[in-house]
Amino acid sequence: MSGSIVLFGPPGAGKGTQASRISSLTGKPQVSTGDMLRAAVASGSEMGSEAQSYMEAGLLVPDEVIIGLISERLQEPDAMSGLLLDGYPRTIAQAEALAKVEGVSAVISIEVPDEAIVERIVGRRMDPETGMIYHIRFNPPPSEVSSRVVQRKDDTEETVRNRLSAYHEQTAPLAGWYEERGVLIRIDGNRSIEEVGSAIEAAITSRGN
Ligand code: AMP
Repeated sequence: MSGSIVLFGPPGAGKGTQASRISSLTGKPQVSTGDMLRAAVASGSEMGSEAQSYMEAGLLVPDEVIIGLISERLQEPDAMSGLLLDGYPRTIAQAEALAKVEGVSAVISIEVPDEAIVERIVGRRMDPETGMIYHIRFNPPPSEVSSRVVQRKDDTEETVRNRLSAYHEQTAPLAGWYEERGVLIRIDGNRSIEEVGSAIEAAITSRGN
């Protein structure tokens, strides 16, 4: 499949969890704008400090910042045969900017109802050494990892509500935008990690990866 693949869905849908499997299947490098922004915040760069206040409030970082970040990433040599985009685009303006520079062959929309999101996010933990994502109940970290897992600063119940509103207002309309362009694949994300992964794999394979 040429061009990039977009992983789309609300916060906590399982985009990051499924990304490594899809990346191995397609050979496309995973690029998460959330991870890039968190790295920028940790490095103390000017862009990081601009992004930080939006992220901590559960709001989207302004389009110009994100579009600039991704345009640079698309110039790198490993982006030649497309990327696996996790968390980008998140607005129509970002999708329009992407369409000008890069083909999108599939948008995998992982659909999870709002009621399930809060529990998923509040229990989410990350291993800072490997980047692996766990959940204290649904996918507990192995014992050798459990003492070092951390919770993201924006994974609190209060911030999740804002992130969900931002999703419904600014991001969800993109599903229709991509559907009109014939690339949207809807996946029921309210199942086990394994079932969701198999469904995504089957959808990508049947489209001729
Ligand atoms: P994520 O790790 O994808 O949940 O992203 C964490 C936070 O980073 C989001 O809540 C936003 O504040 C910001 N962010 C990540 N990707 C984007 C994007 N494409 N557009 C705007 N803000 C973003």
